[in-house]
Amino acid sequence: MDIQEKIKKLRKEIEYYSYLYYVEDNPKVEDYEYDALFRELQKLEDEHPEFITPDSPTQRVGGISEKFEQVPHKNRLYSLDNANNDEELTKWYERVLKDTTNFEGQMSLFAPKIPLSCEYKIDGLAVSLTYKNGVFVQGLTRGDGIVGEDITNNLKTIKAIPLKLFEPVDLEVRGEVYMPIKSFEKLNAKQIETGQKTFANPRNAAAGTVRQLDPKITASRDLSIFIYWGNFFNKEDAPKTHSETIEKLSKLGFRTSKVKVVSGIDEAIDFCKKTDEIRHTLDYGTDGVVIKVDEISKQNELGFTSRVPKWAIAFKFPPEEVWTELKKVEISVGRTGTVTPVARLEPVNLAGSVVSRASLYNFDEIKRLNVQVGDRALVKKAAEIIPKVIRVEKTEKSVPFEFPKTCPVCGSTLEEVPGEVALYCPNKKGCSAQIKGRIEYFVSKNAMDIDGLGESIISQLVDKKMVYSYPDLYKLTYEQLLELDLIAEKSAQNLLDAINLSKNTKLPKFINALGIRLVGKESADILAQNFKDINALKEASIEDLSSIDGIGEKMAKSIYDYFHNQDNLNDLNAALKLGLVLENTYKREEDLKLKGLSFVLTGTLEKFSRDEAQEILKSLGAKTPNSVSKNTNYVIAGENAGSKLTKAQNLGIKILTEEEFIELINK
Ligand code: NAD
Repeated sequence: MDIQEKIKKLRKEIEYYSYLYYVEDNPKVEDYEYDALFRELQKLEDEHPEFITPDSPTQRVGGISEKFEQVPHKNRLYSLDNANNDEELTKWYERVLKDTTNFEGQMSLFAPKIPLSCEYKIDGLAVSLTYKNGVFVQGLTRGDGIVGEDITNNLKTIKAIPLKLFEPVDLEVRGEVYMPIKSFEKLNAKQIETGQKTFANPRNAAAGTVRQLDPKITASRDLSIFIYWGNFFNKEDAPKTHSETIEKLSKLGFRTSKVKVVSGIDEAIDFCKKTDEIRHTLDYGTDGVVIKVDEISKQNELGFTSRVPKWAIAFKFPPEEVWTELKKVEISVGRTGTVTPVARLEPVNLAGSVVSRASLYNFDEIKRLNVQVGDRALVKKAAEIIPKVIRVEKTEKSVPFEFPKTCPVCGSTLEEVPGEVALYCPNKKGCSAQIKGRIEYFVSKNAMDIDGLGESIISQLVDKKMVYSYPDLYKLTYEQLLELDLIAEKSAQNLLDAINLSKNTKLPKFINALGIRLVGKESADILAQNFKDINALKEASIEDLSSIDGIGEKMAKSIYDYFHNQDNLNDLNAALKLGLVLENTYKREEDLKLKGLSFVLTGTLEKFSRDEAQEILKSLGAKTPNSVSKNTNYVIAGENAGSKLTKAQNLGIKILTEEEFIELINK
């Protein structure tokens, strides 16, 4: 295909997707796919400017529907150029410096850093609002940038849009109408309930809502707005910078975007990185950061292309969803024997890292999504580390996936647990995948926290039959460790030291380390708070356990079963014999036998320092103020006790000798 043909084909494709997106509010492809086509067209046109036509998508913005009255904009509305990485941002900044008058009136690359304003790029749709004498008179969509759709009545239903300003000014403002994420989720849930079509994302929901023919529907859904631009018709009202404009608009009663002014592009890049880290905590969608030259005079100097301002750029966050080929479904066996399917993918870049595996959760999920090997899969970055497959499309390579009947690691027949969707490998003792999983969990940070015992060493220890269960770790010798691949003498010793060090640990960490089904770090903490030591926990009945706040019935049964399994008891006894010391840092209510009492120390004690005595008293729940008052219950008097003793005697407070103190704490 020759270049001109290729350009024509790309334009047709882009126009079709734009129509679905802007006019129908019903996108057919993901944004990053659209962006890739757009960039390809842009690149071809850059290389062959002779083929650029005024109606090319690279020269225009948006789209317009016939549904509403079409009104020409007073000032044209533009789109934004975008940058996908630091280099592209820096390139844009260098062009800005080159094309503006800077230090000492020179056009120069070596100009000082110029102020840039950074703000979130809200993922909604642009509108233009006109105010006369401080009263809202007209609201238009961006449309194609030259002509907009009149949606005044719909916009009037958005509470964040003031119908009257605090001052009677004439101006046009622009902003992004959006739907808060929670409202979007609620709306989609309602659409499903009432059998209607769901929206692909909050942007489309906002666009679809604001462009309803019936304003009542708009009013019934939750929309809001951030104003990010203003044009005062009386030039004397107009501030000199973008950030001041925003401040002024805010004072007039608008809900404005939050602007941070930084110096130079490096600080702006920093802002982009920080925003990427926190954006999921916001209750609205942002797909990037907009960086603008702050000084309006410089903005005017830079001007516009036919599609975008040269004084602003949008940094787009990397996509968090991406399509790739699903090459295989692998089965992984977890520490509790749960068998889970994992998708092996054609490696693909997702939100800044290369991804080759994605979770499929369980076999029901495979059925629900209708996953087949060879499908095209849409993979989304999830809150967890491993991304998940959220949708698939069939290709000619697609073939059904055969559900396993036996454990892929040990060959045992898989079992179903009634009431649960998962499949289990029942071979607890012999399945090496389960043993490895349990040991990995045992040594992990919130458990025994053994440094240097990574996946590959554990795998070798299990495969070489040196470790069957956790007490075996404490029997390992230096010579055995040297037999492992990639372990040098020094690291063997370090590992042995780390294992030994872990023998003195805290009870909640150990309880967590046991990997009892349904018991995680939080529940392990609760158990340690309620049982004096591991023996007390071991002896607890299901009733004892389930009467504890935070321990449900299922968990209580799982804990009880764990400690009534002979293998588990053997492991526990072996570990204790090998020298594990489990300190319970939590004191239970009944251990706080001095709770509510107040002790004052005076003089020198023979067996304790003052600090030690206070520590002991505090650990039993007592208070230890420094001076005697009528609220003091006891004064502990050592050698050379001074005025505190006299005061206590005068107040009739009980005086304890050191011996009496020892007797009291040992009671
Ligand atoms: P854009 O969304 O990339 O950026 C321009 C818009 O950003 C402005 O019009 C404005 O509305 C908005 N914006 C948000 N916050 C802002 C702020 N603080 N300051 C200034 N402006 C702010 O560009 P566009 O022209 O609206 O749309 C193009 C994008 O739409 C593409 O990059 C693509 O991702 C998406 N699109 C997708 C499809 C599809 O089929 N998936 C089709 C067409 C377009």
